Amino acid sequence: MKAVLFHRHGGPEVLEYTEFPEPEPKPGEALIRLRAASLNRMDVMVRNGWAGLKLELPHISGADGAGEIVSFGEGELETGDWRLGDHVVINANLGCGECEFCLDGKDNLCSNWHLLGETVRGTYAEFVSVPIKQLYKLPEGYEFHRAAASALVYQTAWHSLVKRGGLQKGETVLIVGAGGGVNTASVQIAKYIGAQVIVVGSDAKKLGMAESIGADILIDRSKEADWSKAVFLATNKRSVDVVVDNVGTTFMLSLRALRKGGRLLTVGNSGGPKVEIDNRYMFAKHLSIIGSTMSTRSDFNEVMGLVTAGTLKPVMDKTFALKDAALAQERLWKNENFGKITLDIP
Ligand SMILES: [Zn+2]
Repeated sequence: MKAVLFHRHGGPEVLEYTEFPEPEPKPGEALIRLRAASLNRMDVMVRNGWAGLKLELPHISGADGAGEIVSFGEGELETGDWRLGDHVVINANLGCGECEFCLDGKDNLCSNWHLLGETVRGTYAEFVSVPIKQLYKLPEGYEFHRAAASALVYQTAWHSLVKRGGLQKGETVLIVGAGGGVNTASVQIAKYIGAQVIVVGSDAKKLGMAESIGADILIDRSKEADWSKAVFLATNKRSVDVVVDNVGTTFMLSLRALRKGGRLLTVGNSGGPKVEIDNRYMFAKHLSIIGSTMSTRSDFNEVMGLVTAGTLKPVMDKTFALKDAALAQERLWKNENFGKITLDIP
């Protein structure tokens, strides 16, 4: 099969578009002929590599993908649920299915957890084999690129905002950053719940786009370096109930922007892994910092139901051919995108 892979960590130049053996589906798995993959910042982090990351090289990146079932592993037959030719999107959150957390339905807390495209080979390829339980069946006519663009970001934002963060109708949410896939999904989910949304960003064009998908108040941080003060003023000096901060290095501003008893939600660290916080804010303001990654299988099914029904609409940036994955990653890494970048797998 055709795939984009790398034999060593490094910049975009290590990516090769080449032939690689097609995977064999194991018992319990289905082989998917992919039609679209979608990029996440994690793809670039894995390509760059980090201390302690152990991969079987060559590695194929990609957590998100959508396509058709073309075969099943031994012993798996067509059933009432799954048939050859079914259109599916993949849930990249790979729980073992056997540990105490998986058995309790909390498969993103799995003690033997893997993420497709991070520790196992992913979706920048014509074929991928995954456990059948990772599949979500697409309704007829739902487009592969939209499906691939949705899976990781909506489950991540839904689990964080709704399940971990307990976001309520009438609350005010501040989202730090205007363009990324999780942030655009967070704007839409917060509006769906009935919250007021403030977005802080540095790019006037992206802020305008955030407004077009539902953001109520926009703060341009290129003009207001201390945007926590701007949030204070924009909320009649009340401050916000919830902050979505996937930058990390902005935590102190986010903690300042929260009301007493507020929650800071984080699912990423696009600004870098180390942050310094003033602990006095934590206890004096009764604040919580709530981390999570990906979602449970039931959250995934719940939010994909809203996506495929058209209630939540993925924000699509640009599509590249699979062979141009390096260019696509450069666009993502330089934050040139608004919404999701996808790869077309003909
Ligand atoms: Zn498990």
